[in-house]
Amino acid sequence: MSRRVNVVGAGIVGLSIAHDLALRGNAVTVIADRSAGESVSGVAAAVWFPYRSGASPSLMAWLLGARKRFEQLATDCAAGVDLREGIVVERHMGADRSWTEVVPHHQEATADELPSEAVAGVRATVPVISMPHYLPWLEKRCASLGVRFVDRTVASVDDVAGDADLVVVAAGMGSGVLLNDDSMFPVQGQIVRLANPGITEWITDVDNPAGLTYIVPRREDIVCGGVAQVGSWVTEPVAEVEQAILRRVVSLMPALAGLPILSRATGLRPARDTIRLEHVDGYPVPVIACYGHGGAGVTLSWGCAEAVADLADQT
Ligand SMILES: Cc1cc2nc3c(=O)[nH]c(=O)nc-3n(C[C@H](O)[C@H](O)[C@H](O)COP(=O)(O)OP(=O)(O)OC[C@H]3O[C@@H](n4cnc5c(N)ncnc54)[C@H](O)[C@@H]3O)c2cc1C
Repeated sequence: MSRRVNVVGAGIVGLSIAHDLALRGNAVTVIADRSAGESVSGVAAAVWFPYRSGASPSLMAWLLGARKRFEQLATDCAAGVDLREGIVVERHMGADRSWTEVVPHHQEATADELPSEAVAGVRATVPVISMPHYLPWLEKRCASLGVRFVDRTVASVDDVAGDADLVVVAAGMGSGVLLNDDSMFPVQGQIVRLANPGITEWITDVDNPAGLTYIVPRREDIVCGGVAQVGSWVTEPVAEVEQAILRRVVSLMPALAGLPILSRATGLRPARDTIRLEHVDGYPVPVIACYGHGGAGVTLSWGCAEAVADLADQT
């Protein structure tokens, strides 16, 4: 039976949920005041890696689910998903490698692949998502499944409950206000995008003593970061921060020196100690929350979308 589902949020999380709910025969409307490209999702690097994701007992299942879906999508060139090798640099012994359990292609990085101060590292093949291709592709794919898009600000859940059998709140940082949840906090990030002369290898060096550092080469650009300022609401790029990012990435990958800067951006990662994916009581219609993905909303997107669709089926 087709149910009417209103999804609040058109970022990577809301779109992926809308897609899977529509695939299962629901009549889905996405209501949002920003498109995915204009939201935090448009700033994401976006490499499949669980950086600063909230905790959850289901985390590994979501990571696995999303990795598999992205791997399927990598066979469709138009989607903008590529499987790429890269290196996770480790700066201290005993770094958390639990993520490798759901990555079939990984091995110990060799010393000559790592910065001299690193203690170890992992070479892995994971999805890298060229968001300027992927987000419009996903929007079109949703539309082809019958998803409707409404451009407006939602003031409260009741506001979108009247014409729905089910409401899903997947509004990133906006979710806390909608559900009276004061446990959300921003983790501010800043990136600079360089022209890509054909580099494919990514690097993440999250414990770099000079600051969080990552290099994510996509189809047309290389996303260089970064910053992770807990509690900061700064939304304008800061020139000194960008210069420091460029120094760090060139030190890790000298081939980046002098590449043209294409653009720069900031984004507020929608963080929470635990990702919230559950039914929320107290509304006239069933409500499912899905938010708090921090620095891993892309990485977890399809896994969480499948979990929300399963919850919706049980509702
Ligand atoms: C610099 C940076 C780099 C990152 N790199 C990566 C990476 O490499 N890999 C990765 O997995 N993740 C990465 N992330 C994290 C990722 O971007 C986020 O986790 C993800 O985008 C969150 O998606 P979302 O859909 O929950 O929220 P958003 O993308 O913020 O979307 C929220 C949506 O809700 C809507 N909304 C909110 N409130 C309301 C309201 N009241 N009414 C109507 N609409 C509303 C907005 O308009 C928008 O459509 C990065 C983030 C940053 C900042």
